[in-house]
Amino acid sequence: MRLVILGPPGAGKGTQASAIVKKYNIPHISTGDIFRANIKAGTELGKKAKTYMDKGLLVPDELVVSIVKDRLTEEDCKDGFLLDGFPRTVNQAEALDKELNEMGLKLDRVINIDVEKDILIERAIGRRICRNCGATYHIKFNPPQREGVCDNCKGELFQRDDDKVETVEKRIEVYIEETKPLIDYYMKKGLLLNIDGSKSIDAIFEEIVNHLEK
Ligand code: ADP
Ligand code: ADP
Ligand code: ZN
Repeated sequence: MRLVILGPPGAGKGTQASAIVKKYNIPHISTGDIFRANIKAGTELGKKAKTYMDKGLLVPDELVVSIVKDRLTEEDCKDGFLLDGFPRTVNQAEALDKELNEMGLKLDRVINIDVEKDILIERAIGRRICRNCGATYHIKFNPPQREGVCDNCKGELFQRDDDKVETVEKRIEVYIEETKPLIDYYMKKGLLLNIDGSKSIDAIFEEIVNHLEK
């Protein structure tokens, strides 16, 4: 299964993506996670990406597209993948189409998680991530058993630098301007699966799986 998960910042893409890849045994390709790993490792790519991410802006297409292209040619993507946070511009979507076309492949579904702005901000602000395994929690909606500690690995939980109110608001603006047009782009291709993201994590997952297996 070759999937894309689309939605505004804080919609729950990463949370659903983690459950989907586990169920279907496909790799989870999150460009945000790739950038954060590069920032942590202090690479040149990480340094460049951070200047945009801290401002809530998109990292330029030329930096993102080549990373994804390389990733898609890795062995584990042979039988499918889930792209999370990519594409984010029409230009990126066209580059993805071109790359898949050259590989003789196509997308099966684009899952679009829709959530209203007030909820997005609340979700992003309360988000906490495990420094060790990357698991995502929410202080109110999906809290760990022990505050600040990961249930899976006992790692320390932290808040992303860009999960501050002002930066989240900027990211939502950027989403509306640059990423939202992709809904139309994929609808025209007949790939779009619209999901109401205001429900519970489990209810959304169930709905996605039902649709994918239809
Ligand atoms: P969220 O899931 O909250 O939307 P991500 O982890 O996907 O956040 O992305 C965090 C930041 O990384 C974005 O605000 C942007 O700066 C950068 N980024 C991630 N993916 C892309 C992409 N495909 N194109 C451009 N920038 C990206
Ligand atoms: P995205 O990848 O779209 O930015 P995440 O999956 O990281 O979003 O979710 C953002 C925050 O909202 C996290 O703290 C997550 O635990 C929480 N969350 C995700 N889905 C839901 C949901 N359906 N209801 C309540 N909180 C959610
Ligand atoms: Zn952990």
